[in-house]
Amino acid sequence: MDYPDRFDVIVIGGGHAGTEAALASARMGCQTLLLTHNIETLGQMSCNPAIGGIGKSHLVKEIDALGGAMALATDQGGIQFRVLNARKGPAVRATRAQADRVRYKAAIRGLLENQPGLTIFQQAAGDLIVDNDTVRGVVTETGIRFHAETVVLCTGTFLGGVIHIGLDQSRGGRAGDAPSNALAERLRALPFNVARLKTGTPPRLDAKSVDFSALEEQPGDTPIPVMSYLGSRAMHPRQVSCHIAHTNERTHEIIFANLDRSPMYSGVIGGVGPRYCPSIEDKVHRFADKASHQVFIEPEGLETRELYPNGISTSLPFDVQLEVVRSIRGLENAHITRPGYAIEYDFFDPRDLRHSLETKFIHNLFFAGQINGTTGYEEAGAQGLLAGLNAARRAKELATWAPRRDEAYLGVLVDDLITMGTQEPYRMFTSRAEYRLLLREDNADLRLTEIGRELGLVDDARWAAFATKREAIERESARLKASWVQPGTPAAQAIEAKTGKPLTREYNLMDLLKRPELGYADIAGLVGEAVADDSVTEQVQIQAKYQGYIDRQQDEIDKLKRHEATPLPESLDYDRVEGLSHEIRQKLKASRPATLAQAGRISGVTPAAISILLIHLKKRR
Ligand code: FAD
Repeated sequence: MDYPDRFDVIVIGGGHAGTEAALASARMGCQTLLLTHNIETLGQMSCNPAIGGIGKSHLVKEIDALGGAMALATDQGGIQFRVLNARKGPAVRATRAQADRVRYKAAIRGLLENQPGLTIFQQAAGDLIVDNDTVRGVVTETGIRFHAETVVLCTGTFLGGVIHIGLDQSRGGRAGDAPSNALAERLRALPFNVARLKTGTPPRLDAKSVDFSALEEQPGDTPIPVMSYLGSRAMHPRQVSCHIAHTNERTHEIIFANLDRSPMYSGVIGGVGPRYCPSIEDKVHRFADKASHQVFIEPEGLETRELYPNGISTSLPFDVQLEVVRSIRGLENAHITRPGYAIEYDFFDPRDLRHSLETKFIHNLFFAGQINGTTGYEEAGAQGLLAGLNAARRAKELATWAPRRDEAYLGVLVDDLITMGTQEPYRMFTSRAEYRLLLREDNADLRLTEIGRELGLVDDARWAAFATKREAIERESARLKASWVQPGTPAAQAIEAKTGKPLTREYNLMDLLKRPELGYADIAGLVGEAVADDSVTEQVQIQAKYQGYIDRQQDEIDKLKRHEATPLPESLDYDRVEGLSHEIRQKLKASRPATLAQAGRISGVTPAAISILLIHLKKRR
């Protein structure tokens, strides 16, 4: 049957990409349908119950700055919060939260169900309605036809999913869920480049069977960090500790002795796995000289005794998994509640996408999340938000939008994917961003909330909170610049006592704050009154201390913008560009960059090749 209501946007898949996509589209005022296998699994964490971490919390806070759900759900579900790299510079600092699976999911579902303009329907999508290379809607596996202007596909690891435990295989989207085979076949028939990737998860343990006295306790940070710019500690549930265990030589012997029963090493799995989140068999194989690896024993929630042993993801057979677990000190009597497994799935070459995440081959069809070759909830959520936004803008006949690399990690993520593609599951790191000092997790709101407001993603409450904070930062910076300390005054003596150096002339408080030995708390109250809001004082302090570096990065960006603004026409025939090497020509033809700057980021495309392209473009005019 044809469903009687017509939608602006249909989002397929209620995982991390799909939920952000559906919320973003509905926030933009589009009538949006979220079509998913199972309403009970909306926002489900397929693997570790944690959000954030290095590079990833930057994405979470960017999603938040653009009005998304992930950070707020983390504040409602987080049971242990830590700041990683706390002693390093602000560019690489990252917030990580252990989440209660059930609370996190409930928070996401609550946001979805309360979002005006969003309709949720439980059923598998089996087919796309495509007419003249343009998507027109979706057909469910029972034959219901939903019509829409645009469609966003966020099907995660479900397309052609095959689960491996040892040499046993079964079809599945993840443990306990059916795969999406009809849709996978339909997509394979369309002109997309499909390949296989794999990922894995560890066995889960029963806390009753673990000897915690043999493990090292790892409490969360005090004061407890907060993930969302609108979040607060009052939102957090009860906080708990994680624990640390270690593999040992015996563990590694067991793994080595059974590698022939691992589907990865016996050649059964063809897909490439995540290099930065390897299975335990991968780790002992690749780092054979290491006698031990850390295993973080993480609670899955407050009302469950299940534990997630982070660091021993595996696809070895169950009997070997049990032996491996029980060889670890503290886990000698551990009971496995669910075996670990690996999953292989279809993904699509992201070079076939535009920056908006619309596919190049089918108009009005957008892809987001694991389907694009990424791994991780945060990477999926960020892409989902962007795809949902652009699907909505396309439905409203507005131009699509994507952040630049110097504006957001989301810009880096999308540009990396569509320019270079990926041969292995792609995850975010701070090292992927050229302008780390500008793209900090602490200033995602200052970078993006205003744009989000213009795009229609940011509601009044978020905008009011942001505007108040931004004003307070500007006011305090101005006050520090206008407040002077004269030599010989009590304020000068306080500074001399702190720095051990005499103050020989007058300084304003902002100049004093730039000194490495002095922090905001040392100087702010010397003349006038200090501000109490940490989020304001943190910004004032970071901007003062890093201004020189920030200005230098800004200069570089301004230079590069000239190339960013030089489009490479889609019709450009690289075979007719004289002077390019065969290899570079092939690379440019394969990824068809949209701008000169994007061409420069393709590995192997040299500055000389960029000059050749520039000359060619000038000649064409
Ligand atoms: P998913 O979260 O998988 O959501 C897909 C959604 O689409 C589901 O709700 C599904 O029901 C729905 N769906 C699929 N097909 C259809 C259809 N035809 N019709 C309707 N609905 C459909 N990430 C890490 O960062 N580290 C890890 O160690 C890690 N290990 C993992 C281990 C396993 C076993 C799995 C399965 C995933 C792992 N991940 C890991 C990846 C992480 O779970 C994903 O990156 C993230 O969930 C991707 O989000 P997504 O929204 O793209 O897809």
